Amino acid sequence: ESPYGRSLKDCRMKPEEKIAKLDCDDNIGYFIKKKLHVWCRLPGGLWELGTIQSTSGDAALVSVSSGNVIKVCRADLLPANPNVLEGVDDLIQLSYLNEPSVLYNLQCRYSQDMIYSKAGPVLIAINPFKDVQIYGEDFVTTYRRKLTDKPHVYAVADAAYDEMMADDVNQSIIISGESGAGKTETAKVAMQYLADLGSGSCGTEHANAILQTNCILEAFGNAKTCRNHNASRFGKLFDIHFSTAGKICGASIQTFFLDKSRVTQLQNGERSYHVFYQLCAGAPSTLKERLNLKRASEYKYLNQSDCLEIDGVDDARKFHMLMEALDVVRVCKEDQEHAFSLLAAVLWLGNISFQSIDNENHVEVLADEAVTIAAMLMGCSSQELILSLSTPEIHGSKDSIVKRLTLRQAIDARDALAKFIYVSLFDWLVEQINKSLAVGKCRTGRSISILDIHGFESFQKNSFEQMCINYANERLQQHFNRHLFKLEQEECELDGVDWTKVDFQDNRECLNLFEKKPFGLLSLLDEELNFPKANDLTLANKFKQHLNANSCFKAEKASSFSICHLAGEVLYDTSGFLEKNRDKLPSIFFQLLSSCSCRLLQLFTSKEFKQFQKPENDSCQMNALDPSKSSAGIEFKGQLFKLMHQLESSKPHFISCIKPNSKQLPGMYEVNLVLQQLRCCGVLEVVRISRSGYPTRMTHQEFAGRYGFLLLEDDLPQDPLSLSIAILKRFSVLPEMYQIGYTKVFLRTGQIASLEDKRKKV
Ligand code: ATP
Ligand code: MG
Repeated sequence: ESPYGRSLKDCRMKPEEKIAKLDCDDNIGYFIKKKLHVWCRLPGGLWELGTIQSTSGDAALVSVSSGNVIKVCRADLLPANPNVLEGVDDLIQLSYLNEPSVLYNLQCRYSQDMIYSKAGPVLIAINPFKDVQIYGEDFVTTYRRKLTDKPHVYAVADAAYDEMMADDVNQSIIISGESGAGKTETAKVAMQYLADLGSGSCGTEHANAILQTNCILEAFGNAKTCRNHNASRFGKLFDIHFSTAGKICGASIQTFFLDKSRVTQLQNGERSYHVFYQLCAGAPSTLKERLNLKRASEYKYLNQSDCLEIDGVDDARKFHMLMEALDVVRVCKEDQEHAFSLLAAVLWLGNISFQSIDNENHVEVLADEAVTIAAMLMGCSSQELILSLSTPEIHGSKDSIVKRLTLRQAIDARDALAKFIYVSLFDWLVEQINKSLAVGKCRTGRSISILDIHGFESFQKNSFEQMCINYANERLQQHFNRHLFKLEQEECELDGVDWTKVDFQDNRECLNLFEKKPFGLLSLLDEELNFPKANDLTLANKFKQHLNANSCFKAEKASSFSICHLAGEVLYDTSGFLEKNRDKLPSIFFQLLSSCSCRLLQLFTSKEFKQFQKPENDSCQMNALDPSKSSAGIEFKGQLFKLMHQLESSKPHFISCIKPNSKQLPGMYEVNLVLQQLRCCGVLEVVRISRSGYPTRMTHQEFAGRYGFLLLEDDLPQDPLSLSIAILKRFSVLPEMYQIGYTKVFLRTGQIASLEDKRKKV
């Protein structure tokens, strides 16, 4: 195997180990000998730039930028890049691709408001947390006319558009990053660019409607969390369709996995979905009267977290923008009123309380204002609502014994009803938006899809939701790796250069852990639903019994287990897994909702409604038992497969968003936080892939232009290619250190640095 290729063993290494290995590959001995710029690892783990003064044994005396001279051991030194490479647009241009070099390069750019950089084919976007003057008409024109090649979301969208038009292939822009990294804002920037490009004649109306949908989706699907004031609590894929002339002719949205627990339960300092506060603050007085609406602080679902407002956000104004946006996507006034009534109904449901009726903790519904108003808003009688809230699920025939509810059961049933109504309302709205943006007759089948989906999540406590999100991220990461691998190969082959085979990090084993039948996480989870006595502990034991052979699975104490994801190890707790996966509304509520006079509620319980469409191509045991509903896990997998299928048939463009600090503040760059994200989102993997081949690529013109003057011979060849060869020969660059392509010189790591060194001495 070539010393630059990687063995399978490398692929199983943790990211930190791989980076460590990668760093060792750099020839630090040469740096010590030549007394060049180096990175020194300081005791706290941070890196500082310095110059080697002298060496003795395994240690070196280094003068660092503060002027001090410190003693550093050899293992804590890494080569730094020559100054000519400071702040380069593309990390791949760096001669030394070690961690501090990558981090410093990005920081150097960030401090000058250059928030976009590239890592080969990937755009890195570092959240500025302030307005940066790099958007708007003039910039759109500059990128459209290709007057600059500076990295930008506009450049990515522009390339996608051009490739779609030229090759007649669908394109996708895949945006990743953790909460608050800037995915949604980046998606909007890309949409804005495409809307500008694709408007004109019939495209203008569509472009405007497309931009307005963000306001609706954010009102209903975003909330303030501790990590982001405007966190999306759902994933979305936005397809923009174009006509043969390249004008927008329609769009469609798919959404994934709205977090419904937020409707009824909040952590301190966080809010529920924006729309509730907007409605309470901004509804005109007549609407408020009709809905019996009070201030947000009067509703338990909203006031439980001690956070009702967001600094600098005017909820009332946002409500007016929401109503305008609903008009633009042609949701009629009557349906808007229905939707607002249901939001108010959800809030009033939360205020329904229960009183104890015996000594065994059994309760009954308190027939107060909350019940009366909730029933009125839903279009049923108070008695009907009370009856269904107080009836435990009646199994089978009429003569089943009706038990009484405990307080916990009563609260759970009420919350389940509220969540069902909210999630259905969200799905219905997405459907309305899709109807109004539907592709017109001029459809060509050409589209650009923009994916903005939750990044990898690892909290102190991780549940079913995190497992699904992380599973989706594994799939996306596989897509990313496969694609980059292919690109690398293509670039080499196109230029007639031998393709050094490099393995990429394979997560097949982790995907198997989820998908294998019958013994994968999702199948086992569904199977357990068939056992009436199953609980979280029996589920955890089942996992441990069947999954231990998979190297990505780790049994933990009691009801916990861990998964080794590509982005790191995550500890999951199975409590609540079964209920969340069953995801079934008690049938008594179905009966209630289908008899309500509210048109939307009737629709939500009808067979035609989106929620009840089963995913294609997946027949699991449980569907056979209960054909009306599949489990949440299977539904998620179905959606994910559909998404992957669509992405795989398009040309991908990747954007990795990075959050520079956890305080959501401008001008603050936390090195360790950035590093951890670069590892998670695969950017360092891209760097690694390129590094194991020929990371430095310069056109013959560039190469000859920069180093040609070093040749002193009289009769120099005229053409750049021969000149490149002459330079390499003259400086005895070893043949295994470079390859000559048709258009470019391909160089191994470190070669440019030593040529620069020679250049400096002249
Ligand atoms: P989540 O996963 O929680 O939805 P996200 O990755 O979608 O997070 P955003 O909501 O896009 O994150 O960004 C968070 C905040 O960062 C924005 O509300 C905005 O204040 C700021 N921000 C992000 N990108 C930019 C940008 N390009 N220019 C200015 N501010 C930005
Ligand atoms: Mg978002």
